Amino acid sequence: MSGFRSVGRNGLQSADFRISPQNDDESSAISSQFSGDASAISGAGRNSPRPKLKAAVLGATGVVGQRFVRRLANHPNFELVAVAASERSVGKTYRDACVWHIDGEEYAGCGNMIVQACTPEAVSADIVFSALDNEPARHIEPAFAQAGAFVFSNAASFRMEEDVPLLIPELNAAHLGILAHQRARRGWTGAIITNPNCTTVVLASALAPLERAFGIEAVMMTSMQAISGAGYPGVSAMDISGNVIPHIRNEEPKVEVESDKILGRLLGEGADARQEAARFPVSATCTRVPVSEGHTLAVSVRLKGNPSVEQVDAAFRNFVPDTAGMNLHSAPRHFIVVSDSPDRPQPRRDVEVDGGMRITIGRIRSCPVMGIKFIALGHNTERGAAGASVLNAELAYAMEVLRWVS
Ligand code: NAP
Repeated sequence: MSGFRSVGRNGLQSADFRISPQNDDESSAISSQFSGDASAISGAGRNSPRPKLKAAVLGATGVVGQRFVRRLANHPNFELVAVAASERSVGKTYRDACVWHIDGEEYAGCGNMIVQACTPEAVSADIVFSALDNEPARHIEPAFAQAGAFVFSNAASFRMEEDVPLLIPELNAAHLGILAHQRARRGWTGAIITNPNCTTVVLASALAPLERAFGIEAVMMTSMQAISGAGYPGVSAMDISGNVIPHIRNEEPKVEVESDKILGRLLGEGADARQEAARFPVSATCTRVPVSEGHTLAVSVRLKGNPSVEQVDAAFRNFVPDTAGMNLHSAPRHFIVVSDSPDRPQPRRDVEVDGGMRITIGRIRSCPVMGIKFIALGHNTERGAAGASVLNAELAYAMEVLRWVS
């Protein structure tokens, strides 16, 4: 027995938001979906009879890109029509452009696709999943949004922009409401929607039940991050074997600011919508360890009202995701699971469960400095990257935001 129990409901407030549509046709479709509770759009995902949208993957040859291709090769809402990467790969078959790193059918049956350039001229798709490095993403992603595509991005380039949603559908589905403001401000017919850094997604998911139940005053976190988080070829075997590297370039500043944005609120409506961040300090130390998949976090929190270990345990177990009842294709059966075993979660044993989309919490105990401490685990290239982006797109599809596709 692993000692895992799934989380139940805690009667959270539902998402309350409205997106201003661009025309009357959008108006009737969107207002019927957005006037209130995100979870009221029950069943809009998995069994939808709507036609599939054409999808492309930018950075398809990389660690995250391959996971996108595998997730999209047979998806109920999206049809993979193009893979794209750098000049190094353009014109080659997908099979010749990269070494397949992950389980399952090699190249997910897409090995004969020809790799395209990352431009809207070369790639014609309704939605675009970006697994690009930050630097190329900075100019490539806006070019696609300008051309009318919905860009679901893993890159950090636009995450903290005030008009860009930083989404974890289970926590802040309402933040999609900022898109009307983004499109009005930037004059785009498409949009950019981001998912968090792979460590932040674990941290923010673990903090959300505590912020909602008690309110957070301060957070200290040390991560033990998998080598797959460094891309391919990433960290050399000589450097990481039997070792811990106590520095990951540019990681800690991202983790220290992103959770506040994710756990913040959407205020106003339509083009006047804005995002207000939560306000608690996060102190992060990020390390690289010889684990292939899965980031493990040791978290200490100071909570308002100084709740007991039992109250904190109940807050995790009773958390109800914003997406409850929506049947999104990539959503885990259980978003947060609490382990009762003293030696869990462990990446090798726990990280692949539920398609890598589950967050596992363990070792909840009192902390003499901060009040409460615990361990959290999540899959960095699925929950923290490809799976996260695809889930964001499924949310947008279910909420009919993607009807805006031009
Ligand atoms: P990666 O394995 O190094 O792959 C990078 C991809 O970007 C490759 O497909 C590469 O194509 C392409 N690329 C590089 N420069 C390009 C350019 N100038 N124009 C067009 N394409 C270009 O990296 P990764 O680990 O998959 O990470 C991809 C993104 O996801 C990064 O922004 C990263 O920060 C983010 N992310 C990664 C993780 C993770 O756990 N790995 C988690 C969350 C977020 P070629 O093969 O042709 O060079």
